[in-house]
Amino acid sequence: MTALAWFLVAFAALLGLIIGSFLNVVIYRVPAGIPLTRPSQCPHCDAPVRPWQNVPVLSWLLLRGKCANCTSPISVRYPLVELATGGAFAGVVWMLLGNDAFRLASFAQRPEGGALAFALIAIAFLYLAAISIALTMIDLDTRRLPNAIVLPSYVVLAVLFTGACLAGAPWEALLRAAVGGAALFAFYWVLRFAKPGGMGGGDVKLAGVLGMALGWVGWGTLIVGAFAAFLVGGVIGIGMMLAHRATRKTAIPFGPFMVLGAWIGIVAGESIARWYTGLLGVS
Ligand SMILES: [Zn+2]
Repeated sequence: MTALAWFLVAFAALLGLIIGSFLNVVIYRVPAGIPLTRPSQCPHCDAPVRPWQNVPVLSWLLLRGKCANCTSPISVRYPLVELATGGAFAGVVWMLLGNDAFRLASFAQRPEGGALAFALIAIAFLYLAAISIALTMIDLDTRRLPNAIVLPSYVVLAVLFTGACLAGAPWEALLRAAVGGAALFAFYWVLRFAKPGGMGGGDVKLAGVLGMALGWVGWGTLIVGAFAAFLVGGVIGIGMMLAHRATRKTAIPFGPFMVLGAWIGIVAGESIARWYTGLLGVS
């Protein structure tokens, strides 16, 4: 990686910290139906949050996790979401610039696509990282995946992927994204009606969004990403039962596993698929 590439990774980390601060607002307000435009205030004493108290991570450390006005505690979860978003953004840009499997699958087939196609693909996966974190936290908090986040994501990804193709990225990737979105949506839709009470309607709608992103990268990514969700969900479910944190009847939200599975697919799906077809002697 070049010096410019490392600069872009560092820039993405900083951007992620700021977006993470916004995601904290989204995670709290979207399920509660509070407008995102309202100024932030302390939930205990209603004191407005001043700009210097709104710097990601640093403000929480300087305030030692307490409201400056009423000293009621501010959850450590706020700086953790900011750090996670910063790390995820840096990881996405690093992967796009440095991961051969990912570039081979989605972008470098037509390297003449150039900087604009690269930027649009990067924005698409940074957006996916942001909603992944927001939806994971909201699903853990409320067992819901709000339409207000999931449904516009179809449009955002479709516009960015189409733009990337117009700028030179391969059209096959867009076709795979469309097929991947439809296939994963249909798969979860069948699961929902085959076993009532298993999947929620939000899971079905999220599956289409994740399928688009997975399909864009490659077929191997789509298959690995789809099945990794059930593998990770099964392992963690059994682990929780062994630790007596859950029984067979405990309703564990599935959205976080779908998101985690998708990212396993995006990061390692093409490599895993090639290794597996190599084992079978197919290729
Ligand atoms: Zn307060």
